[in-house]
Amino acid sequence: MSGEQRELFETAPAPWEVDDAVEQLVATVVFPTGPAQPFDYAVPERLRDMLRVGMRVRVPLGRGDRVAQGYCVRLEPRQSSRRLKEISKLVDRRHLLTPAMLRLTEWMAEHYLCPWGQVLEAVVPAGVRMDAGTRGTQFLSVNRDALQQIDRSKLPAKQAIVIEHLAAATSPLTAQQLASACRCTLAPINALRKKGLIAARTERVRTHQAEEAAVERDSGHELNLDQQQALDTILAALRGRRYETLLLHGVTGSGKTEVYIRAIEEVVSYGRQAIVLVPEISLTPQTRQRFRARFDHVAVLHSHLTDSERHRHWERIATGEVQVVVGARSAIFAPTPHLGLIVVDEEHESSFKQDSAPRYHARDVAIERARAEAVPLVLGSATPSLESWQRGRQGVYRLLELPRRVLDRPLPAVGTIDLREERAEKGSRGAIGRRMYVAMQHALEAGGQVILFLNRRGFATHIQCPSCGEVVNCPHCEIALTHHRHGEMALCHYCDFQMPAPLNCPQCGASGIRYSGSGTQRLEAEVHQRFPNYPLIRMDTDAMQRPGSHEAALARFRSGEVRILLGTQMIAKGLDFPNVTLVGVINADTSLHLPDFRASERTFQLLAQVAGRTGRGEQGGRVLIQTVSPEHPAIQAAIDHDCDKFAAYELPMREALCYPPFGSMIRLIVRGVQEPVVAAFTGQVVDELRRLLAESKARVLGPAPAPFAKLRGKYRYHILLQDSDDTALRTAVRQVLEDLRAPDDVEWVTDVDPLSML
Ligand code: ADP
Ligand code: ZN
Repeated sequence: MSGEQRELFETAPAPWEVDDAVEQLVATVVFPTGPAQPFDYAVPERLRDMLRVGMRVRVPLGRGDRVAQGYCVRLEPRQSSRRLKEISKLVDRRHLLTPAMLRLTEWMAEHYLCPWGQVLEAVVPAGVRMDAGTRGTQFLSVNRDALQQIDRSKLPAKQAIVIEHLAAATSPLTAQQLASACRCTLAPINALRKKGLIAARTERVRTHQAEEAAVERDSGHELNLDQQQALDTILAALRGRRYETLLLHGVTGSGKTEVYIRAIEEVVSYGRQAIVLVPEISLTPQTRQRFRARFDHVAVLHSHLTDSERHRHWERIATGEVQVVVGARSAIFAPTPHLGLIVVDEEHESSFKQDSAPRYHARDVAIERARAEAVPLVLGSATPSLESWQRGRQGVYRLLELPRRVLDRPLPAVGTIDLREERAEKGSRGAIGRRMYVAMQHALEAGGQVILFLNRRGFATHIQCPSCGEVVNCPHCEIALTHHRHGEMALCHYCDFQMPAPLNCPQCGASGIRYSGSGTQRLEAEVHQRFPNYPLIRMDTDAMQRPGSHEAALARFRSGEVRILLGTQMIAKGLDFPNVTLVGVINADTSLHLPDFRASERTFQLLAQVAGRTGRGEQGGRVLIQTVSPEHPAIQAAIDHDCDKFAAYELPMREALCYPPFGSMIRLIVRGVQEPVVAAFTGQVVDELRRLLAESKARVLGPAPAPFAKLRGKYRYHILLQDSDDTALRTAVRQVLEDLRAPDDVEWVTDVDPLSML
């Protein structure tokens, strides 16, 4: 919670006592901004019949009875001797959230330590809250009682025609429509309204209806044995009408999506709906088309929708018209009336975690929602997160395996290129080494396409020896130390260990230790210069700013016009191009040595996903990884496409240090413009947490500067809390949030189950 929000806190005056207890209908209201705690209000008689839980209301708040808007989360008759303030007005005509969704948001508020009102505001899209894309329109009707009182034959001719027409109309008419149907002006209509013979009521109608172009239908494939087995297990769970999480571990190209679709067909046959979560970037035309080719009513929720489109989808979903909702993170809040199944594809993807409050993980919210609505949840991945993997092994999730690609296609051969050797050779100065160059040449000359992958977003300031590949790590945290120009220090961003930046490699003694990396833009220039005859396209967040540019770029690559595609993780997943015969990873080390305990896991997942982009067609394909650490277990496991091998290497280290999945974590970030103030306040928070957690086994790490030590003019410090489970941590953090007040201009962020350590 930020300091700014605390400023807004206000204590309402204590309600005064009245002599006799009276039975009254009490509404509990929570606010998106302002007070974090709920307030009770009396429901006046005139609103009783209309108010529902899940609607927004206007109420007087605080001493000055300022008008505030909040969500009604509970309604109950209560014997009370307290006189409560009254709700002044309803904002919505229908509830925005069902009771089930309200419970889910309450759980989120509790779990993610975020005010409930703030969660609600995040869950209901802005377009829905604003009623976007609708307009108040007046519809006319005949006031039959008034009409009987008068002599109709005395009406002027025009007015008589209008009345007759309106009385006979089978659908509601606006004044304009009525006037043109009767070939008159608005004057007779207005005259009739004045006489009270025509009544008008206002309704909100859509200003336009966007329809998606029809998609050619497709009946899908006959499932292979592995797919059929996985499907049968999911169907059994569906028929059992109970909650269960199934982890579908299938290598890239094993036909996971086909299994989801079959399961959803069953769900649809029950008249229920399914939600499919995909990482935003996989919302390629391919994914979208595949679902639309198999179901009549699909809502695709992606980040480029306008408010009004989002509102329209929301309504179609709420009426039950939509059978399948496909979308990124926030689609987990789709208001499906009869949910039947949730699928989270690529469940290991970090984009499922929201990086602003409420900092929820859509997969974990999906688990809660599936549990609450008693439906099965399928988590799919070629490289499951270690959290899910561990639960699969322990039997908490049911593990389903698709170990082979469809149609007996082989997994691509993955090889490494040792950058230490390349760099020792003369004449290879750029990002593309000699061996990579030769492989590209061959692939292109044979008519194939090439994908080059560079994780530009890597934190490039780790300290690495160019001759032995040694990366300088923190002795306490097994995390790469970060080079700080200021004072030439090497710092641990977890525990604040520091030492002077070494001039020679601590491992082999070589001089010339390096601190920097290169990005996709530099790579683009290099490829352009070395392969001037092959059209290329760069895809990263800088190059793909405009809506649709991503799809357009992929379409050009699919058509074969573009021969080389280079980019960041944006190109790593979900793409399926049969003609790609070479995937080159420019530098596997950028992600391997981030100051984050998940660095190895991310690298393994990324390499396995990138490798999955090739070998999908007849010609097969191969993958080449440039690295200075070819023997690193994460890279070795990716070469073998072997999740077991990676988990066997990584899990014992996680366990020894109590990192997830063996323990829970909460991260607190404190930020502000004045570093000494930020540092001092963080220190105060740490002291308080240590005091509160003294009796427990919890670890409190910090205060330390965050790896991104200064962002947008603000200094950032962080604190990490670890424990075997999160109960004690949560209690302590809640206590600190109540007890301590951040200095002016200092905000703090609470991140439960953090995914980013930067
Ligand atoms: P994944 O999601 O595991 O990467 P997909 O479901 O995208 O795999 O399947 C990869 C490709 O194989 C798709 O083009 C799909 O149409 C095709 N496919 C899926 N199942 C079968 C099958 N049983 N027989 C033939 N082709 C299949
Ligand atoms: Zn450390």
